[in-house]
Amino acid sequence: GALPGWRDVERLVGDAHARFARDSDGIVADYIPVLAEVDPELFGLAVIEVGGGVHDAGDAQHPFSIQSISKMFVYALAIQEHGHERVREIVGVNNTGLPFNSVMALELNAGHPMNPMVNAGAIATTALMPGETSAEQWERVREGLSAFAGRALGLDGVVYASEARTNDRNRALGRLLTSYGRLEGDPDEVVDVYTRQCALAVTAHDLAVMGATLADGGVNPITGQRVVSAEVCRDTLAVVAASGLYERSGEWLFEIGLPAKSGVSGGIVAVAPGKGAVAGFSPRLDEAGNSVRSQRAIGYLSRALGLNLFASA
Ligand code: GLU
Repeated sequence: GALPGWRDVERLVGDAHARFARDSDGIVADYIPVLAEVDPELFGLAVIEVGGGVHDAGDAQHPFSIQSISKMFVYALAIQEHGHERVREIVGVNNTGLPFNSVMALELNAGHPMNPMVNAGAIATTALMPGETSAEQWERVREGLSAFAGRALGLDGVVYASEARTNDRNRALGRLLTSYGRLEGDPDEVVDVYTRQCALAVTAHDLAVMGATLADGGVNPITGQRVVSAEVCRDTLAVVAASGLYERSGEWLFEIGLPAKSGVSGGIVAVAPGKGAVAGFSPRLDEAGNSVRSQRAIGYLSRALGLNLFASA
């Protein structure tokens, strides 16, 4: 069925926010120094409907770095550019079952990154962005994600600087991909573009618009701009369903039944094809790196709105 009417959705988004407002489970990420300084009480929710309906609650307009959620949108841009087959071959579509920054996952698979939602696969995907220089590739990423959001997104320079100083592990993954002949270009430059893409500042509202663009067959429901094709949305959402919530992706799909992507700054966006997207922001994370409160609030909303893709009734 379709979404309930606007007023009912609006009330449910408010209910979901109130229901989890005092939930303080989880721990803020600290492996990126500046993320440890964020206010852990921040909590925003947003729903964007494919018909253009907008619902924001709490800190839905508070900016934070997009982190891993960028991976799903850069992946969509890569498929739009190079096609289903080529990207599938280079980056893969299977879950690793290992943490997002695992070096072992690469070593176990002859340097193949397995999927675009782990860091190695995301770095390999960023390398596919068109451009003669890494500056041009970065511009392409920024423009593409801005089209998904329907506004010009900018870099959070403080997060970028903090992460660029401490991302030895991602640089190691980039070098390892190069050593296996699986990365085009200078690995440090590709990792730098990847680090910038993770430091783009977004809000929960932006994430819901971005997700709703994938729910809407690639057309941004707020601006009306076509960003990617419907086939690209289908491919992207399948991969996100398999690997969007790190090692918890199977549990999430089993309980909630929606493709969703999380990031270590506390954002999660879940996409209901043909209906819309639900986004949350709250910095405290579970051990895999997923925002605890965003998972709970999005889970509550997806049940209340009847969004589980596998439910026939
Ligand atoms: N920029 C972060 C990293 O590469 C993203 C991690 C995440 O959100 O999962 O470590």
